[in-house]
Amino acid sequence: MMRLPKFTYRVPKNVSEAARMIADAGPEASFVAGGTDLYPNMKRRQQTPKTVISVTRLRELRQIQGDAIGGMVIGSSVSLTELCQHPIINRDYGFVADAARLISTPILRNMGTIGGNLLLDTRCNYYDQNYEWRKGINFCMKKDGEICWVAPSSPKCWAVQSSDLAPVMVAIGARVKLVSSAGERMLDARDLYNDDGIQYLHKRPDELLTEIHFSPRNGMRAVYKKLRRRGAFDFPVLGVAAALDIAEDGTVRSARLILGGVAPSPIEVEEAQKALIGERFDQDRINAAAEACYLKARPLDNTDFVMGWRKQMARPFVQRALEELRHISP
Ligand SMILES: Cc1cc2nc3c(=O)[nH]c(=O)nc-3n(C[C@H](O)[C@H](O)[C@H](O)COP(=O)(O)OP(=O)(O)OC[C@H]3O[C@@H](n4cnc5c(N)ncnc54)[C@H](O)[C@@H]3O)c2cc1C
Ligand code: SF4
Repeated sequence: MMRLPKFTYRVPKNVSEAARMIADAGPEASFVAGGTDLYPNMKRRQQTPKTVISVTRLRELRQIQGDAIGGMVIGSSVSLTELCQHPIINRDYGFVADAARLISTPILRNMGTIGGNLLLDTRCNYYDQNYEWRKGINFCMKKDGEICWVAPSSPKCWAVQSSDLAPVMVAIGARVKLVSSAGERMLDARDLYNDDGIQYLHKRPDELLTEIHFSPRNGMRAVYKKLRRRGAFDFPVLGVAAALDIAEDGTVRSARLILGGVAPSPIEVEEAQKALIGERFDQDRINAAAEACYLKARPLDNTDFVMGWRKQMARPFVQRALEELRHISP
């Protein structure tokens, strides 16, 4: 049985106390929300914080406010189950609830939060193993070792961004609020991620993610498609998030196409977006966008399934996502 290492557990009363606590505890501290990612990682000794600061019960972080007209603000400790079940989210931003329903299992969704999901550690077959297994291969660059077993000559870690909500948040242009003892700042979701499996966030460890802001809908339609081995639960090995604004005459005014599960960060496929913007939204354009995504997707051999097949699946998954958007009203 894998046991948690010893650590100090702290429960702040509010956001400013949480920010103070992590500043006082220093670099060996970590926030925890539902713990469905952090605690398994601690058991495997991938992350070994000496102090863990729980933010899951902070009332300020559990609020859901707004609607499609004014936009929404979602507290970072809102659970995935609440996200799936919330009536206004289902009515106005149903694509977010749909994506959340595809995450792990009902029990894990009761504990797991939207904030924890967006900040999920990157994943790799050579890293998501217990300590003894990783010791057996002399570890790897992401934790305790020096080499990357996936790309041995690479100076960079290619562990995969595996959050289902991250590509959706980037596609719909969501923004996140980060709070620390030094102040607060807003960041576009696309700027939260860094294309490196080790330094995968542009968030400092002492910054608490407090809120996720959705812009007003303004006619935007969006969808998320996920490839995984088991429908019941599994991390994505490919995620496609698409968000479009289509004029009444059928011309695409704006388009965002984001691939998840194929790189250390969500990948925005600008070539696919260019293939759609200013054009009539027809099958030719859908095929052109799907082809651009296929060319851009370069998964490596470090998650489930053969990488060549995962790359090929980008084409039909993008086609399916865009065809679905043709048939839904904004
Ligand atoms: C069996 C299994 C299957 C899973 N399947 C999926 C899946 O299909 N798709 C998917 O996307 N995920 C999956 N997950 C991962 C995880 O359950 C979810 O991503 C969940 O939403 C994580 O949220 P959490 O609150 O439990 O995160 P935690 O474990 O609490 O935190 C995750 C990370 O975020 C940091 N953190 C959390 N909240 C904050 C905050 N407010 N501010 C700053 N830092 C913070 C923590 O320090 C930690 O580094 C799976 C997990 C398991 C165990
Ligand atoms: S991609 Fe390479 S360095 Fe990164 S976790 Fe996997 S084996 Fe380790």
